[in-house]
Amino acid sequence: MITRSPIPLQRHGSADTWQRQLAHAIRDPRELCRRLALDAQWWPGAEAGHALFEVRVPEAYLSRMRPGDPHDPLLRQVLPLEAEQQQTPGFVSDPLEEREHTARRGLIHKYAGRVLLITSPACAINCRYCFRRHFPYEENAPSRAQWADTLDYLRQDTSIREAILSGGDPLAANDRQLGWLVDQLEAIPHLKRLRLHTRLPVVIPDRIDDALLDWLGRTRLQKVMVLHINHPAEIDDSVISACQRLRQAGVTLLNQSVLLSGVNDSVTTLAELSERLFEADILPYYLHVLDPVEGAAHFDIDDDTARSLVAELRTTLPGFLMPRLVREIPGEASKTPL
Ligand SMILES: *Cc1c(COP(=O)(O)O)cnc(C)c1O
Ligand code: SF4
Repeated sequence: MITRSPIPLQRHGSADTWQRQLAHAIRDPRELCRRLALDAQWWPGAEAGHALFEVRVPEAYLSRMRPGDPHDPLLRQVLPLEAEQQQTPGFVSDPLEEREHTARRGLIHKYAGRVLLITSPACAINCRYCFRRHFPYEENAPSRAQWADTLDYLRQDTSIREAILSGGDPLAANDRQLGWLVDQLEAIPHLKRLRLHTRLPVVIPDRIDDALLDWLGRTRLQKVMVLHINHPAEIDDSVISACQRLRQAGVTLLNQSVLLSGVNDSVTTLAELSERLFEADILPYYLHVLDPVEGAAHFDIDDDTARSLVAELRTTLPGFLMPRLVREIPGEASKTPL
C-alpha cells in the first residue's frame, strides 16, 4: 500500500532549509565562546578539545542556551573543556568494542532480532560525551555497492525483525538515499520495523520536512524513532511541532538520555525532562550511564549515585514516565539494567 503523507510543510520562523542550517553550524570553538559571551579563559580548553573531536553546534540548538552562563546544560554538552585532555584509567577509545561486531561494513549485529546500520557517518551536532567520538565513521559508511552486501545479510537472516538506522546520525543523509534504503528494506518480508536513532529533530527541527515525511510516511514498516534529549531546555516549540509532524506520520517517539554530570544529574531535572518529553508526545525509554570513552570522564556519575537518583525519581513520576537505567556492556545480549 502506497500512501502519500498528507502533512503540509510547516515553517517555523526560518526560511532556511535544514541542509543550509547544517552547513552553517558553528564549527569554530572561539566563535562558540564569543556567541555565548564566554571570556577568554574558556578558549584554550575549547581549542584543545576541538583538535580531538571537532566542535559542531547548529544555530537552532545554540538559540536555546543562556548567554553568559558557562554552566548552561546545553552548552556543557557541546563545549570542549580542559578536562578532556585528562587520561582516566578505564576510559578508552572504543568502550563498546563495536569494531569487533561489525559483521559487514556499516552493519552491527549484537542483539537478537535487530541490526544496527550505520547510515550516515556525520552528526548534526558533536556531543562531547559521545561514545563514538573516536569511532572511524568514514571507514564504516557504506557506499551504494556496499549496501548490496548489507541487504543480503538482512535477507538471509530471517530472525531479523528490525532494522535500526544509526550513525553518526541517519537523518544527516539526504532523503533520496534514505527513501531508496527504506524501499530496499521494506521489500524484505521478515522485516517488520524500522527504527531510527537520531538527534536531528531536536537540534535542527526543520529536518522534519515534506521530503522526509514522504518516504517515512509511505513505508509499510512500523516506525519507531528514538530521539536523544538530555535536558528539558532542549525541547522548545519548534521541537514540539517537529514531533507532532512525526506522530501524524505514524511514528512512535521514544527518548534516550545519558546521565551526565553538570547536565541532568538531579531528580528535579530528570523529572522535568520526563514531563516535558510527554508534552512533546515522546516516551522516556533509556537513561544510559556514560560509556567510558576517553575525554569524557568529567561527565561521569558513579553507579550508586545513579541508582539513588533513579530510586528517588520513581517516587515523583508515574511509571510510564520512568526511563530504564542501563549500561552497555560489551559481549552482553542486551543493555544491562543497573
Ligand atoms: C543499543 C543497541 C541496539 C538496540 O537495543 P534496544 O535494547 O533494542 O534498544 C541494537 N544494536 C546495537 C548494536 C545497539 O548498541
Ligand atoms: S552520535 Fe549522537 S551523541 Fe554522538 S555526537 Fe552524534 S548526535 Fe551526539
